[in-house]
Amino acid sequence: MKYFGAHVSASGGVENAVRNAKDIGATAFALFTKNQRQWLAPELTPSQIEIFKQAMAEAGYTAAQVLPHDSYLINLGHPDEDGLEKSRESFFEEMHRCELLGLDRLNFHPGSHLKRIDEEGSLKRIAESINMALERSKGVTAVLENTAGQGSNLGFKFEHLAYIIDRVEDKSRVGVCLDTCHSFAAGYDLRTREACDATFEEFERIVGFKYLRGMHLNDAMRPLGSRIDRHSPLGDGEIGWECFKYIAQDPRFDNIPLILETPDEERWAKEIELLNNFSKL
Ligand SMILES: [Zn+2]
Ligand SMILES: [Zn+2]
Repeated sequence: MKYFGAHVSASGGVENAVRNAKDIGATAFALFTKNQRQWLAPELTPSQIEIFKQAMAEAGYTAAQVLPHDSYLINLGHPDEDGLEKSRESFFEEMHRCELLGLDRLNFHPGSHLKRIDEEGSLKRIAESINMALERSKGVTAVLENTAGQGSNLGFKFEHLAYIIDRVEDKSRVGVCLDTCHSFAAGYDLRTREACDATFEEFERIVGFKYLRGMHLNDAMRPLGSRIDRHSPLGDGEIGWECFKYIAQDPRFDNIPLILETPDEERWAKEIELLNNFSKL
């Protein structure tokens, strides 16, 4: 099965994300389980959890169709003790919220060295942060998202992801989310079927599809290798439709959430419909 959806709003309560996803014909969705601009949030109440679970059951979504995203404030590779500690606490809380909601994965950006420590030092901190989070949680997989490599953000090379995974003790609870815009901005070509073959073969060789727990489907506003993270609606950017057709038709992307983070929300329903049509060709 192909699960297509978008990162929908959870404003007013996490259960609203379920309704917002259903409204656009999505069979997958992403959400923030708390305000993404705050470090900590009040604990979810039993009634909030119940309402969310009921909405999920009614709409027919399972955990495998949902890809929660953590707060952008969190930096698990932070060079300073204070920043690292704060990030880890906030990340533990996010993992815990997923667990309470019956969700089984949490998508996050690996981290940034902020030009104060070297890449390797920061990657080691990220792996250590994940080990700590897995020890303190149950049933939730930590899903590393590849990045565009803007500023000092790590995770723009498949080798970074592999380096981190290699140092995670419980490999059954670490995974990867590939963002097509980030991949392209980081220099992985996706414009033709041949380019997709080569990029995903490289991913298989260095990281492995067995770790793939989700995808972000975004076109890219800037050219290949720009290292700039600007999303476009599908087909409007530098990548073009061929890549999204390829993903829709390739069974390596089955049974995981395939999430739009494209800028024009009004187009999500149409983008999902087109992706569904491609998957049936
Ligand atoms: Zn992200
Ligand atoms: Zn993304």
